[in-house]
Amino acid sequence: MTDEATDDIAQAWQELVGTARRTASEGLVVGTSGNVSVRVGELVLVTPSGVPYDRLTARDTVAVDLDGKQVLGDLRPTSELPLHLVLHRETDARAVVHTHAVHATAVSTLVTELPPIHYMTAALGGPVRVAPYALYGTAELAGNMLHALSDRTACLLQNHGTVAHGDTLSQAYDRTAQLEWMCRVWLTASSVPGREPTLLSPPQLAEAAAQLAGYGQPGA
Ligand code: 13P
Ligand code: ZN
Repeated sequence: MTDEATDDIAQAWQELVGTARRTASEGLVVGTSGNVSVRVGELVLVTPSGVPYDRLTARDTVAVDLDGKQVLGDLRPTSELPLHLVLHRETDARAVVHTHAVHATAVSTLVTELPPIHYMTAALGGPVRVAPYALYGTAELAGNMLHALSDRTACLLQNHGTVAHGDTLSQAYDRTAQLEWMCRVWLTASSVPGREPTLLSPPQLAEAAAQLAGYGQPGA
């Protein structure tokens, strides 16, 4: 491996550990739940299975190839490797974040799609679908998730949690946080007795998507 590739991996591992720690410190997971991956060339760096994120050091780097063969590290990769690999193989995802965020997990038990209660629905590609339940760590769960993610950057996993992907770890993280926040808004509004929240129409979402394309600072 070239020095440059080694540096890229070291930097990506540091960012991955930082992102995983953030999921815990910002309350999107408890304990060792959830997992994170990031692509570096033909490798995928992943969090190890069942290891508290605050214990991870630079020496613990875990990397697999796109077929799941372990290339770096002694710790066993996340049990959700099928879910991460299918996204790195089949979509343009460069980073993937999986959490058990409370409101998102609660919503995943109530509906098959998060009702479009806020214009940030458009930032995730449209109404967020719920992938039907399958056992954690299985190819079946990965397949259900991939289907739920078509034309979307985030989905819910029924009775389980969230998955979001992006070009970078911070983008995948931010999408996760936005999804959790929208789930919280919907649960809050829909729990008012005798009232139903208003929802956004497809044209309103399309208009928001167009506006969001120019959101923020020019060129940012
Ligand atoms: P790992 O600790 O194996 O990553 O599993 C956590 C999880 O969220 C499984 O769905
Ligand atoms: Zn999980």
